[in-house]
Amino acid sequence: MDLSARARQLAPSPTLAIDRELKRLVAQGEDVVSFGIGEPDFETPSFIAEAGIEAIRGGATRYTAVEGTPRLRAAIVAYLERAEGLRYDPDEVMASAGAKQALYNALLALVNPGDAVLIPAPYWVSYPEQVRLAGGVPVTVPTDPAGGYHLSVDDLRRAYRPDVRGLIINSPNNPTGAVLRAADTRAISDFCQRHDLFVIADEIYQRLTYGSEPSPSLASLPGMRERTVIVNGVSKSYAMTGWRIGFAAGPPEVVAAMGRIQGQTTSNPSSVSQAAAAAALRSDDRTVEAMRLRFAARRALMLEGLGRIPGLHAVWPEGAFYVWVEVGGLSGQYDGRPLSDGDVLARFLLDKAQVAVVPGSGFGTRAAVRLSFAQSEERIEEGLARMSKVLQTSA
Ligand code: PMP
Ligand code: GLU
Repeated sequence: MDLSARARQLAPSPTLAIDRELKRLVAQGEDVVSFGIGEPDFETPSFIAEAGIEAIRGGATRYTAVEGTPRLRAAIVAYLERAEGLRYDPDEVMASAGAKQALYNALLALVNPGDAVLIPAPYWVSYPEQVRLAGGVPVTVPTDPAGGYHLSVDDLRRAYRPDVRGLIINSPNNPTGAVLRAADTRAISDFCQRHDLFVIADEIYQRLTYGSEPSPSLASLPGMRERTVIVNGVSKSYAMTGWRIGFAAGPPEVVAAMGRIQGQTTSNPSSVSQAAAAAALRSDDRTVEAMRLRFAARRALMLEGLGRIPGLHAVWPEGAFYVWVEVGGLSGQYDGRPLSDGDVLARFLLDKAQVAVVPGSGFGTRAAVRLSFAQSEERIEEGLARMSKVLQTSA
């Protein structure tokens, strides 16, 4: 059968592709260290899992309201107020099957064919593809490596063109870990208002920062709430990737449109997962804090180990659970191609060291790879030792 042009031009998700390959190798009995997909290795906390089990036992196994149960929407409202000081009404929030679907709903609700959307780079792999699926045109906004990849209003000004209608902001950033600086947010919000842009603020790593500066939500600035859709979810902060619950908060007419889109495509996210997510979002901060402290220790371990491998330059992540590693300084080759190309390096590390990393190309930059430190300390040490060994001999 002939595929649609849409399907033909769609690139597969490189993070999921790495994970598929990893699972295939592990199923064959290979001992691969995964620094690939961004997924906490922790179990979902038991009180959250119990809430899901209770939901099954209690018969919460039917369709719910498309936008989520009243209980989950109330939990989302309470969470946004507690974690970010943001006030939303229940009809200004909705639940989806992961932050990924929330993001896609938002783009479908806001992007007309041909509309350009600014995407600061390095960017999370799915943004440009989702913009294209929605009929829009992704416009990359390079950020400055020397400035730690912090987005500045000058970056946005340089990339701006008259057909730009929106901006996707991801802070803390996947893959660099950069957190939007409080000092930059005012100028960025003025820019968005001057050009009448919508903003999608992907705050999925909002609770996972390691420095003194919290990640400010653009929605909290004057004049921004009415043009911003916040996207968040429970996957990362509560170790609930497989439960598939994300959420969005924004102007009521946008959230209603997102609900109509979801109603005609997938209906409600899993009723059982909604019950578990409500328990997660209602829990006190100790749940997230315990995991954040573990991630902080792993970040230190990863940075220390990477610092000892010549030719690699690890960017200090302020948040999320990734290290962005610039590899332009590597001089070796693999299969006649330079290791300073992230695609080549990722293949080399998987073949020769049994370490999975994600090549930078999917994030918009070839001379880099991304390593996830959402792994146990032992596996991080093992993976670093393997990398060090193969790179010392070939770099
Ligand atoms: N946004 C970013 C920046 C992410 O890294 C991820 C990772 N999955 C998502 C959105 C989607 O998360 P979810 O699992 O909730 O769909
Ligand atoms: N967001 C995670 C990552 O970047 C999970 C995979 C995905 O959804 O892309 O690895």
